Amino acid sequence: MKLKFKEPAPITDHSNPLESMMERFDEAAKILGLDESTYNALKSPEKAVIVSLPVTMDNGKVQVFQGYRVIHSSKLGPSKGGVRYSMGVNLDEVKALAAWMTWKCAVVGIPYGGGKGGIQCDPREMSQGELERLTRAFVGAMRDVIGPERDIPAPDMGTNPQTMAWMMDEYSKLSGQASPAVVTGKPLVLGGSLGRVEATGRGVMVSARSAMAKLKMNPSESTCAVQGFGNVGSISAKLIERQGVTIVAISDISGAYYNPDGLDIEEAIKYVTKHKSLEGYKAGKMISNDELLELDVDILVPAALENQITEENASRIKAKLIVEGANGPTASTADDILEQNGIMVVPDILANAGGVSVSYFEWVQNRLGYFWTEERVNRRADRVMKQAFDNVYKVARKHKCSMRTAAYIVSIKKVADTSSLRGIF
Ligand code: GLU
Repeated sequence: MKLKFKEPAPITDHSNPLESMMERFDEAAKILGLDESTYNALKSPEKAVIVSLPVTMDNGKVQVFQGYRVIHSSKLGPSKGGVRYSMGVNLDEVKALAAWMTWKCAVVGIPYGGGKGGIQCDPREMSQGELERLTRAFVGAMRDVIGPERDIPAPDMGTNPQTMAWMMDEYSKLSGQASPAVVTGKPLVLGGSLGRVEATGRGVMVSARSAMAKLKMNPSESTCAVQGFGNVGSISAKLIERQGVTIVAISDISGAYYNPDGLDIEEAIKYVTKHKSLEGYKAGKMISNDELLELDVDILVPAALENQITEENASRIKAKLIVEGANGPTASTADDILEQNGIMVVPDILANAGGVSVSYFEWVQNRLGYFWTEERVNRRADRVMKQAFDNVYKVARKHKCSMRTAAYIVSIKKVADTSSLRGIF
């Protein structure tokens, strides 16, 4: 007798990032007239690996963590993408994030495919020793998946240069040779790149500046609210402020802080370095994270989590320009509402691609064994971001579609053309 397996239920949850990704993919694929075989090949990941990671905790007990690495595509080159440590990590999320990395690398024209990893854990509740053991266990379990020419992790939510240092060390030990190019986002002394820490926020700033020019917005007469004050949010806020824009609101998990006269972002960053979060920050009136999104500002930078702008609140958003610092902050169900209201959205796969662009520069420097000045890194990264923005803008004009659909069109076309040249099916 043949065993019958139950088909997995189709995803119908619109807050599921995989579904949001697929809806955008479908729309762009339709405009591109993608043939069925290419469509089918591009929509599913090449590889998805789930591992169980037993870790001895400080109390002597062994706790088992779930780790994931999904390679969505390696058509354009080795797969590239961060590793996230968060309780919310699950296979669908990692699959969506891996596909986003494919589109992101393609849209800025760097020779990488897309991948993503994650471990379901709460890094804030773990000691450094526990995090180190967990990270080394992850690398050990994924030693045949990752590699400098195969799949290259980087920091993401809940991970940082220290995590990358452990990964690089563990991989180098296992492979018996120094392998700095196996991860990017490393500390400088271990072969990290100047400019990498600020790279994502810098790219968000370049995207905001390019969009403001197209919309004929004067930076010194514009206001901006930034949701999230981690690496991406805080640096985006700092660099957008330096363009002359008044940052009127910032937020983190402790809440949102609003001052219509403007906040001093350098001060706020110092506050967070000292107090670990914005909790108790007095320079602005406390509002909720939801209220921040709906403030009467010119620019909104969601740089926190997925699914912050949904069909529920999209119609109340007053900003003229949204620059997505986070991955997937807008649910696909909100896209049409924002478009109908004439809001320009610089999509995540374009706006936050500055990070992976400088990761690419880091990898190039590691393989060359020769390091660039910060000025050179920034100049090249700015050029990559500006050219990608202009290209997506042109395609949006041509197809009379949103910047998001245009970014998907550019990247899907690139991956599809490469697949057909390589002739792998
Ligand atoms: N985690 C970052 C992202 O989502 C950076 C990835 C990388 O540098 O590989 O873009």
